[in-house]
Amino acid sequence: MIAPKPSVSTLKPYVPDEHQCAIKLDANEAKPFLFPQGLQFADMPLHRYPDPGTDALKKSIAAQYGVNPGNIMTGNGSSALIELVIKTFVAPGEVVISFKPSFAMFGIYSRIHGADFSEVDSEADFSFDLDKMITAVRSKRAKLVILCSPNNPTGYLIPKAELVRFLQSVDALVLVDEAYMEFADQGETLVHEIGTYTNLIVTRTFSKAFGLAGIRLGYLFANPSLVGMLGRVQEPYHLNTITQVIGCMAMSRMAEVKTYTASVRRLRQEVMVRLRDLGIKTYPSSGNFIWFETEQKDLYQKLIAKDILIRAFGGQDTCYFRVTIGDEQENNAFINALKEILS
Ligand code: PMP
Repeated sequence: MIAPKPSVSTLKPYVPDEHQCAIKLDANEAKPFLFPQGLQFADMPLHRYPDPGTDALKKSIAAQYGVNPGNIMTGNGSSALIELVIKTFVAPGEVVISFKPSFAMFGIYSRIHGADFSEVDSEADFSFDLDKMITAVRSKRAKLVILCSPNNPTGYLIPKAELVRFLQSVDALVLVDEAYMEFADQGETLVHEIGTYTNLIVTRTFSKAFGLAGIRLGYLFANPSLVGMLGRVQEPYHLNTITQVIGCMAMSRMAEVKTYTASVRRLRQEVMVRLRDLGIKTYPSSGNFIWFETEQKDLYQKLIAKDILIRAFGGQDTCYFRVTIGDEQENNAFINALKEILS
């Protein structure tokens, strides 16, 4: 039998939860609100390969964020860009380091590409101690640090001042995954630091705040030299024409995105208060989800029985869960189901 390469033979894949529940609050998706208007497939040159440079899309992203198109790279979801960074910069055996718990794909991509993936534990309150990370980066001589802020699954936001201090303290390449940054307080993004720190890459996605997970579109910001290196590795025609067109449309509708994220922040606060009222331990969140703790170990299954899907963490004996903020009706259904289960 043909065996996969050693780094893949022991790999645990990322398995999306395919339970079919009426209320789906497991994957941090958004509600549909950015309906593409006036899109005519007949007008698109679908018999041609897509624009390899995704130039129009980069221009519209650049204008929105006040950077140059040469600071941007687009990808088939931000996941593909995170993998591209590892593929481009990390040789087999080199160390990639992240906090734990965080987004599972950091470890999966690192292992696929033969990196030595290492983790620093979060604190008891799920915040990150960046001094511990600085010590670990230095002692392990890490090549790449991946910091997720706001962090999935815990919702912890690394204060910008802390991140700047971190960037000044390490030589490694630092990828800050800002998939959920639109749901955080303003002014915390690192996007505008790419001119100052030549070892910084910031990734973003259309999957969360834009409500467009289905088009698979992510983007990153970095200095043009790093962007050029990534460009050597990225496959040609990496982004299909339809995604490029919808991406440009979405970038021109930022006001709607801001209205949507403001409503999620309001609903997040409501769900947080209601969970606390039920005696459930919650953690502050800057994402479109809440990380919480309860002694109800079988909560995940009991909610499925009520047609509600959330994420459970840590295997069989887990008591940590992550619930995506839904619309008002979904949140009510979730809280009412919880009340029944706990009573
Ligand atoms: N980063 C984080 C922290 C995520 O939670 C996710 C998706 N769950 C991604 C990146 C990838 O998102 P996408 O590939 O859809 O852009």
